[in-house]
Amino acid sequence: MTLSPDTRNDRLRLLVLTPEYVDFLWYRAMLSRDPEIDPDATWCPDLIDCDDLIRNASFDVIVWDCVFHGGSESGFLQYLTVSSEDKPVLALSASPCEEKGPELVAAGAADYLCRQAIDGWSFCRAVKCLWYREQLSASAHGQLGREVATGFINRDLFFDRLQQALLRAERAGHRLALLHLNLDDFRNINETFGYQKSDQLMFRLAERLRHKLRRVDSLMRIGGDELAIIVEKVEDSLDISQIIRKVVEALDEPLTVDGQSLVVSASLGVATYPEAGDSPEELLRRANRAMFEAKRDPGTSYRFYDRQLHISAGYQLRLEADLRNAIRRKELELYYQPRIDLATEEARGVECLLRWNHPERGIVGPEEFIPVAERSGLIVPIGYWVIEQACKRLQESAELGFPGLVFAVNLSFRQFHDRKMTETIFRIIFNANVDTSLLELELTESAMMHDPDYAQRCLRELNQLGISFALDDFGTGFSSLSNLQHLPISLVKIDKSFVQELGNSADAEHIIRAIISLAHSLQMSVVAEGVETKGQLDFLRQYHCDEIQGYYFARPMPWNDLVQFLTRQNQSACLQK
Ligand code: C2E
Ligand code: CA
Ligand code: CA
Repeated sequence: MTLSPDTRNDRLRLLVLTPEYVDFLWYRAMLSRDPEIDPDATWCPDLIDCDDLIRNASFDVIVWDCVFHGGSESGFLQYLTVSSEDKPVLALSASPCEEKGPELVAAGAADYLCRQAIDGWSFCRAVKCLWYREQLSASAHGQLGREVATGFINRDLFFDRLQQALLRAERAGHRLALLHLNLDDFRNINETFGYQKSDQLMFRLAERLRHKLRRVDSLMRIGGDELAIIVEKVEDSLDISQIIRKVVEALDEPLTVDGQSLVVSASLGVATYPEAGDSPEELLRRANRAMFEAKRDPGTSYRFYDRQLHISAGYQLRLEADLRNAIRRKELELYYQPRIDLATEEARGVECLLRWNHPERGIVGPEEFIPVAERSGLIVPIGYWVIEQACKRLQESAELGFPGLVFAVNLSFRQFHDRKMTETIFRIIFNANVDTSLLELELTESAMMHDPDYAQRCLRELNQLGISFALDDFGTGFSSLSNLQHLPISLVKIDKSFVQELGNSADAEHIIRAIISLAHSLQMSVVAEGVETKGQLDFLRQYHCDEIQGYYFARPMPWNDLVQFLTRQNQSACLQK
């Protein structure tokens, strides 16, 4: 049931389900002390009246004393939710909240309080919260919203924005996340600093958060101590964990009120579309529920409504925190995979591939941590470390008797975000004093598509220093080689997915042959990746692929193993000559 504007009541219509009249009077008295609430409260002590009242009268909020039920508590809660058409139920339980709360919330209660711990402030706060939320959802049905107090967003507007964002997400097939943030212990802050100062504090926090968010994300204040953040264009849980990290960072820094510096903590509930629902009401209710769950953990904490997302975000945030320390703790290591020249069977170069020796998890592969490094921006310092390390090995390899060995390093498109990239790379190679013609950077097409003009400028600048470029994973993107002609690219790497289809698919054969002949006509060399069998090798040799890289010859290996490999390989190549 929804209210139409004319039947709308400015008074809070409250149904109180409790067997004791004194308790009812007590609850009503507590609410009457709050100037914002003028409760129109109805007492209901028995089950038959309850059914009648719920079906025939309308209420904004139901306060339910848990001793009042026929049968099981959770069964009764379900009945209440369904027959009242989803009115918010505030459960009052005799057991401590930590024990009972989550169970009640899981069964459908919108909020819960422990009877022994109830006082006027917490009771009013809980009831008001539910009332405002109820008005919010009524307003989402095309009703007038209500501005709760100055400085807060109009509730219509909030639901409107959420609705629009949901439509966009649906159309684009994106995920969307709603974050509901509630400041912990706002009551104490209020008592210590007074209403106005606490309000200022909230305002400052909101301002600080706004600076940290992306432009597409919208942040709104929806209650005295509550903020909502709509996060759009979410590709995966990594995007959300980034936002959570930023929010947590923002909370970690002290805020200043009244010349006094103060560290606050907050609980965050996250509900995502489509996992947690597809309507604004549903998302807010679930984000709210998750927020209450987060309240159980001390300090700033978060919870996702969706369990799987909660686990993966937690995992990513831990991984990211560990990765932050990885360089300093010398946990990163480069492995080297040789590239073999098909004409001479000599190793012409090596690709440098990152490995992470995680203190607890052992060796972690790049497929797992590079995305985390990219999304958090850590790829920038890590990427420079890789180039530095490669330059060191480049010099060492010449001393060990392998001059002319090319060192290829992968460059991620996020590294282009660092506007000092060319300058920094220049400094690294200058300090290492290496022959830059032996340094090759591998890029994917997408790296250049992001900001083509800027990427082109970077490539040219680095090329002037003598560095060459290879196009990685070729064939998986959309661009054609001729489009990339004007870029200083001297080598194309055929993606391993084509190589591995050789023998199974005529398409793969055609594509590989076409890439080789086109690359050659553009004076580019070709490396085939992921070569595992003699059959693949023979095919590639037949069509004049220049070099191959793959398990057939060697897996990526630590530096000492590479030195031994190179010695063996070059000896056998000499013997064959
Ligand atoms: P990639 O650049 O395409 O690297 C080739 C990947 O193919 C490597 O995986 C390599 O171990 C694997 N590979 C080589 N030969 C074979 C084969 O015969 N069969 C199969 N099945 N696989 C083969 P790895 O080392 O796990 O690296 C994965 C990706 O991580 C790389 O793909 C690259 O995109 C990224 N990556 C690695 N190191 C770095 C780095 O230092 N910086 C950046 N930005 N990305 C890196
Ligand atoms: Ca590569
Ligand atoms: Ca590749």
